[in-house]
Amino acid sequence: MTEVLSVSGLSVFYGTSAQAVENVSFAVGDGQVVTLLGANGAGKTSIMKAIAGLIPSRGEILFGGEPISALPARERVKRGIIYVPEGREIVANMSVRENLVLGGYHLAARDRRTRTEMVLDLFPEIANKADRAAWRLSGGEQQMLAIGRGLMAAPKLLLLDEPSLGLAPMLVRRVFDRLAAIRRESDLAIVLVEQNLAMSMRICDELHFLRGGRIIGHRTAADLKDNAARQEAIDAYLGAA
Ligand code: ATP
Repeated sequence: MTEVLSVSGLSVFYGTSAQAVENVSFAVGDGQVVTLLGANGAGKTSIMKAIAGLIPSRGEILFGGEPISALPARERVKRGIIYVPEGREIVANMSVRENLVLGGYHLAARDRRTRTEMVLDLFPEIANKADRAAWRLSGGEQQMLAIGRGLMAAPKLLLLDEPSLGLAPMLVRRVFDRLAAIRRESDLAIVLVEQNLAMSMRICDELHFLRGGRIIGHRTAADLKDNAARQEAIDAYLGAA
């Protein structure tokens, strides 16, 4: 399997003293879904922002085999790295369709139209409401819109920050099922930040457990198939710090 993303020795500092991420290394293969799991403050968002180029970091980040650490965020977007932040950040007063168009702003008008239709096909829940203002969508639909907007940019790597945040379990399941379908239909690689192990197991291939800015454990989805193994990982890695 070819590696899409390779992160080695990644560290993130806020200011001169606070270290949010310490010497983190992991890789994502073509079409793979890799989950970063950990409690609040474990450093997950900082890792995603560092990969997207939104905050400075140390260490090496390779994308498609090439170093990207020195590239500005917009250049990383052009290469196909798209970050979908937690909290959705859609434009409330614009329609669903307009929000999608924003995600494909750099595409030619015709490609933008084709892609908008493709994304709406993927999310029938929001397709019915394409001309409604985004604030009128439910939480789950807003999350679908945020992911859909990310997909507008034809990403090679989607960085998804807690898509389940603030959603009822049934809606989370729906969002994750859509993600699983997208992943089956394309070669898209995904880094998923989650606090919910069971949910992320629905789509991911590998999991890295984080605590205090470090990776403290690694499992494949196959390792965690049975309940006992899953509980053991939860106790070992997600229990009290
Ligand atoms: P959450 O799920 O709450 O977003 P997280 O695992 O994504 O948690 P980060 O948001 O990456 O964790 O935060 C890691 C550490 O860095 C925390 O101790 C946090 O307080 C700190 N931190 C995050 N952002 C900043 C910032 N802008 N300035 C200073 N410290 C920060």
